[in-house]
Amino acid sequence: MNVNEQRRRLVGAMGLLGLSGCAAVPTSAVPTSSVPTSAGSTSAGPTLAPWQPGQLDIHHLAIGRGSATLVILPDGTSLLIDAGASANATDVSVATRPGPQRRAGEWIARYAQRHLAPTGARGLDYLLVSHLHPDHLGDVAPGLPQSRHGNYRLTGVMDVAERLDIGTLVDRGFPDYRYPGAGIERAPFAANYRAYVTARQAGGGAVQRFEAGTDRQFLPRGHRPVDERFGRFAVRNIAVNGEVWTGRGDERRATFPDPATLADRDRPSENMCCAAVRIESGPFRYFTGADLTSDTFNGDLPWRDILGAAARAAGPVDVATADHHGLYDGVSADVARTLRPSAWVIPTWHISHPSLQQLEHMFNERLYAGPREVFATEVMHENALMHRRLMQKLRSTRGHVIVRVEAGGERFRMLVTDNADEADRVIYESAPIRSGAIKPA
Ligand SMILES: [Zn+2]
Repeated sequence: MNVNEQRRRLVGAMGLLGLSGCAAVPTSAVPTSSVPTSAGSTSAGPTLAPWQPGQLDIHHLAIGRGSATLVILPDGTSLLIDAGASANATDVSVATRPGPQRRAGEWIARYAQRHLAPTGARGLDYLLVSHLHPDHLGDVAPGLPQSRHGNYRLTGVMDVAERLDIGTLVDRGFPDYRYPGAGIERAPFAANYRAYVTARQAGGGAVQRFEAGTDRQFLPRGHRPVDERFGRFAVRNIAVNGEVWTGRGDERRATFPDPATLADRDRPSENMCCAAVRIESGPFRYFTGADLTSDTFNGDLPWRDILGAAARAAGPVDVATADHHGLYDGVSADVARTLRPSAWVIPTWHISHPSLQQLEHMFNERLYAGPREVFATEVMHENALMHRRLMQKLRSTRGHVIVRVEAGGERFRMLVTDNADEADRVIYESAPIRSGAIKPA
């Protein structure tokens, strides 16, 4: 039996177990990235049921080259957060999934198209670029094709925009991209993205700067009617560029000192400037801060714990991403204690994702009590070997991770689908989890 065949059998068996609603699927046996795959390979198991009006779906795509999260709100309004396409070599990062036949951004666009079909919408309503890094917007490398619409190359966000209509593009730096003055806007990948923004503007496309504090930047577009009984849903902007929601109305406060007053080495990093959001449906809460970090240089500069500030603004949630891909400077003990989710999703794609200490924070029941599940989009074999002790506790280490919130938001399920092809086969499905199950201490 070759590895592909082994994998298909394993995935098939897991799909069957997953369907039973059993939470005890032996996911330590989930194959890691050392397993070669190709698009078009068949895997047994049920297919992910389509989105239905009233549901909130949050898909963490396992494309192998960075972050991409597709959100479908209860009325069918769609938001894509990032479309990463890193150019890192495959000895240190996951290969493009499902395979090398297409670029990461093309796979992301096709995934979105497929899952937006039941909403009736023609394209994406919103695309949020959390910050200006290649694994969130697309790197440039020799040989990438030029766009038909402007003087920029097709990668990541630009590949998505080439294939899908985008209602409003939102990012942290528009229109001048000068904050915090570190010059990242001149890096080749950022310059390529800005050339796309310029072309988009020239063509009359909407572009906005992400505004911390408001819950009216990502307004519902009403593609499908939603029963009033199902209550409120919204996207709350929590933080960007060091500005954080105060919890009162749309108010925000600045937490970073003026960069002009800081030594170069102390300036906020690009990661620290990420846009963070809380997505809500009824009592359900989800938080993501993209690559926000909590490191303070061992307490020297407390204001650098921007992930901590954003987590406190968001409050306890049901599902959270392990920000900055589960790296050493992401989920501090304090962040875990504050967010206290029932499920963590780690957007992993690099050999260093995640770190053992971050896993320890996520699993540690001294930080917060109650059951929790941890998922990673794809952990490299080398990382899995090194972190075996806690890696065995992960529900999955490969596949798209989907949060499916029932209409009304009272309950949700976690699902994992196979990223070896585009069949959306379910390889894990949790039992229903009650929203707000883990209460503040
Ligand atoms: Zn990143």
